[in-house]
Amino acid sequence: MLSAESPHPRIGIQMLSVQPDTKPKGCAGCNRKIKDRYLLKALDKYWHEDCLKCACCDCRLGEVGSTLYTKANLILCRRDYLRLFGVTGNCAACSKLIPAFEMVMRAKDNVYHLDCFACQLCNQRFCVGDKFFLKNNMILCQTDYEEGLMKEGYVAQVR
Ligand SMILES: [Zn+2]
Ligand SMILES: [Zn+2]
Ligand SMILES: [Zn+2]
Ligand SMILES: [Zn+2]
Repeated sequence: MLSAESPHPRIGIQMLSVQPDTKPKGCAGCNRKIKDRYLLKALDKYWHEDCLKCACCDCRLGEVGSTLYTKANLILCRRDYLRLFGVTGNCAACSKLIPAFEMVMRAKDNVYHLDCFACQLCNQRFCVGDKFFLKNNMILCQTDYEEGLMKEGYVAQVR
């Protein structure tokens, strides 16, 4: 069956209170020492509450719900991450890049252009609810899949 999204690199954010007797930590965002009462820890680095921001919309990630997403050295909130990277990938049928925003079909770990999602032997398109099969990373309709199984059975007998 068609599956939803593939897993994304979600990173947890911790809020820590600064111990008065420890040396102030440097902020990975602005490189200044953190002298506030609270600091954020994410990606093994320390941040001012104001400095851990989404690179796209500038929202403060410590407030949005204690997770961030990262890709290509960008730190992003969930919404922007999914908008930019959520559906991008290479089409498993034609191996061309699928631009973000474009609708895709997903099957297991593969993504496909809508136009490419068809039986790769007879080109039959699938509708929602239709059965399809994945064999050696090829999409097959039920007829071709079962035919393939029969041929394999035949080959096995001949040997
Ligand atoms: Zn800072
Ligand atoms: Zn954002
Ligand atoms: Zn394609
Ligand atoms: Zn077919």
